[in-house]
Amino acid sequence: MEFEMYLKDSGIDFLKNHPLKDLTTFKIGGEAKYIVFPKNTKQLIEVLTVAKDKAINHVVVGNCSNILVSDKGFDGAIITTVKIDFFKIDGNVIEAECGAMLSQIAKKACEAGLKGLEFAVGIPGTVGGAVYMNAGAYDGEIKDVFEWAEVLDENLNPVKLGRTDMRFSYRHSRLKEEKLVLLKTVFCLQYASKEDITPLQKANECSKRRREKQPLSYPSAGSVFKRPPNNFAGKLIEDAGLKGYRIGGACISEKHAGFIVNVEDAKAEDVRRLIYLAQKTVYEKFGILLEPEIQFIGEFETPLFVPKDGQNSR
Ligand SMILES: Cc1cc2nc3c(=O)[nH]c(=O)nc-3n(C[C@H](O)[C@H](O)[C@H](O)COP(=O)(O)OP(=O)(O)OC[C@H]3O[C@@H](n4cnc5c(N)ncnc54)[C@H](O)[C@@H]3O)c2cc1C
Repeated sequence: MEFEMYLKDSGIDFLKNHPLKDLTTFKIGGEAKYIVFPKNTKQLIEVLTVAKDKAINHVVVGNCSNILVSDKGFDGAIITTVKIDFFKIDGNVIEAECGAMLSQIAKKACEAGLKGLEFAVGIPGTVGGAVYMNAGAYDGEIKDVFEWAEVLDENLNPVKLGRTDMRFSYRHSRLKEEKLVLLKTVFCLQYASKEDITPLQKANECSKRRREKQPLSYPSAGSVFKRPPNNFAGKLIEDAGLKGYRIGGACISEKHAGFIVNVEDAKAEDVRRLIYLAQKTVYEKFGILLEPEIQFIGEFETPLFVPKDGQNSR
């Protein structure tokens, strides 16, 4: 109640007991006690400080494009950065607040003749989510253009982290390890030379490949699993005979078996059962343990698969 009074008094936008499926690209997720929409980084820090002081369970999210939220929802505050979305391009340097949409920035950068973010044109997330995940596609990754970021440390003090401080690796960053909150970031791109195909052409090619390969007409959270070394999750799931397999309203995509799609009012547990099935079947057939790339919020009845014979996947 105290937290709610603070939200009302401070004038920060929020929703109470609202379904998170309205926020997630999966269109799945039960109610959150509070969904909070700070408009600037000052409000974000203030909400986090109050939530911490009052011991309110909370998570910072961006566009919820890589998240499966439990059907039971979240008994706390989901703090979304989507309204903290300023960015500017100055020469080959891009400064962006946490909630700016990566695909918009990438498009503007391509139009300005800058190369390095063409891969990101179809990624439907914010800068915060993209740095947290070290998002990537078509041989590009956030770490390749990342210069520095301002993040909040565990005491909610702003600190500046450079590229090596971030411990980037495949779909991984220090933000994930330490649950640090990103406020803003700076990317440094390169000017395309005359010999290169233009960044816009390259971005269009990436978008075309996406449209051809990915089930973009259904709600999803993108690739469900990380790519195993020297292999592809989608191919393994397809080879295991699971392409098109449906549980409830969720389905392993016919178009790309690495995606689970919400075909008909799917529940989060439907998705979790498909994740378990894909992990177990692929492990039993090929000895490879698929690790989820998507992040989970809330409590689930269906566990992730743990091999009985230990973690010795190939
Ligand atoms: C159709 C489709 C295609 C996709 N294609 C790709 C692709 O090609 N490559 C790829 O890498 N991903 C892809 N994704 C997944 C997703 O878009 C990316 O991971 C994206 O970067 C997530 O950003 P977000 O703002 O939606 O983050 P969210 O999903 O909101 O959050 C993801 C994680 O980041 C954390 N987080 C978010 N903001 C912050 C912040 N400011 N500070 C600290 N932590 C934060 C959250 O707590 C959460 O753990 C795709 C998804 C869809 C639906």
